[in-house]
Amino acid sequence: MLAAMPPPATLPVPTGAASVRDRGDACPGTLRLHRADDGALARIRIPGGVLSAAQADVVRELAERLGDGELHLTSRGNVQLRGLRPDCGGELASRLGESGLLPSERHERVRNIVASPLSGLDGLGRRDIRPWLATLDELVCASDLTTELSGRFLFALDDGRGDVDALGADVTLLTPADGDAALRIGQAGTVLRIPDEHAPRAALIAAETFLDTARGSGVWRVAELRADGGVLLDQVVRRLRQAGIPATRTPGPVRPARSAAPSPGIVDGPYGTVALSVGVPLGRVGAEQWRALTRAARQREDGGGELRLTPWRGVVVPGVERARAAETLDALEAAGLITGVRSPWAGVGACIGRPGCAKSLADVRAGATAALGPVGTLPVYWSGCERRCGHPRGSWVDVVAAPDGYRVSLVRDGERHAPQPVPDSPAALAAAVAGARGGLDERRPAPCPGT
Ligand code: SF4
Repeated sequence: MLAAMPPPATLPVPTGAASVRDRGDACPGTLRLHRADDGALARIRIPGGVLSAAQADVVRELAERLGDGELHLTSRGNVQLRGLRPDCGGELASRLGESGLLPSERHERVRNIVASPLSGLDGLGRRDIRPWLATLDELVCASDLTTELSGRFLFALDDGRGDVDALGADVTLLTPADGDAALRIGQAGTVLRIPDEHAPRAALIAAETFLDTARGSGVWRVAELRADGGVLLDQVVRRLRQAGIPATRTPGPVRPARSAAPSPGIVDGPYGTVALSVGVPLGRVGAEQWRALTRAARQREDGGGELRLTPWRGVVVPGVERARAAETLDALEAAGLITGVRSPWAGVGACIGRPGCAKSLADVRAGATAALGPVGTLPVYWSGCERRCGHPRGSWVDVVAAPDGYRVSLVRDGERHAPQPVPDSPAALAAAVAGARGGLDERRPAPCPGT
């Protein structure tokens, strides 16, 4: 535990650390609502995206009673409530606190932890990361220092399949093939091998060391430190050793260029039950869809059940009886959720756009719906302005609203190709997007729409 550590040394701000901002972190939470054009917005942090069925009921009830009736999934597996009354903060906090979704008011915006959503369910990961998840969340909530983290700082727990390692977190725990755990800091290729039992504490110490290193610089994320990445790594090694945790530098696994969302459908597991994986069109789950998901979750024999929200705006329902899996998946499809890769909604995302965001130049969700085309190889993401909130990582098709229509471009492994102007016409947009995404059955790389 942190209390056993020597007092933290004050570390120098590394030479060259970027002074990237001088304003406070305005990330919304549940105690600090964001005022949007469609009402107040609350972001509920859900570590690992794991919600019990009872907690899922509470969130739905709050969305229906206080907000616009929908659950808006984020690219970190969190939930946003939108269209809230400005005076609902007290009631919101009280209900979330009673349900266990607000374990520490001081830490409510910093519990940003993504985790491999199929861990322990399909037999493909190297470990079940759930014990790490619970321990890391407790440690973050027990630390005074972590209250200083930005709401954008991200932890990732990867069970060895590389899915959330690709998300570019600030601190990532990895599961090497030959045992123990590895700690990746930012994008560093060198990782620190640490004993498995110390992994969550090592992740906490890495975050606390970052805070001390970056203090006063206006830097919120590890990638914003322009100084030699080795400076932070050296400091973390020193702090780990002070805490009695052996750490050995070693070349890390190559960070996957693309994160791999669970495919929609039935996920076979080793223990007689299966999981169901579904996508959510444009990341918005209506109350009836949410009820269908919690009904599926409650099929578990003990009557409990849970939902796992994924960083790809999908939902995994573990513990479904194998004999009832197909019928349950059909019910989720009938509710309008994405249950197979051939759904035209598969891989289509959008920011909130108009009317919810004043910065937006268009109603991008309506635009994406009108221009829905054939299934593509690459994901496509529609943004109302150049900020591209919540866009995917790796390779994807970027559709951004412009004053005279849209700009469509291909982003290949993070590198954006020249944008192609496309008029605000569903047919023209559908053709441009389909060309850029590439057909699902094509083996050639998707062409760049700008060339
Ligand atoms: S990308 Fe622009 S329009 Fe969309 S939510 Fe973000 S700020 Fe608003």
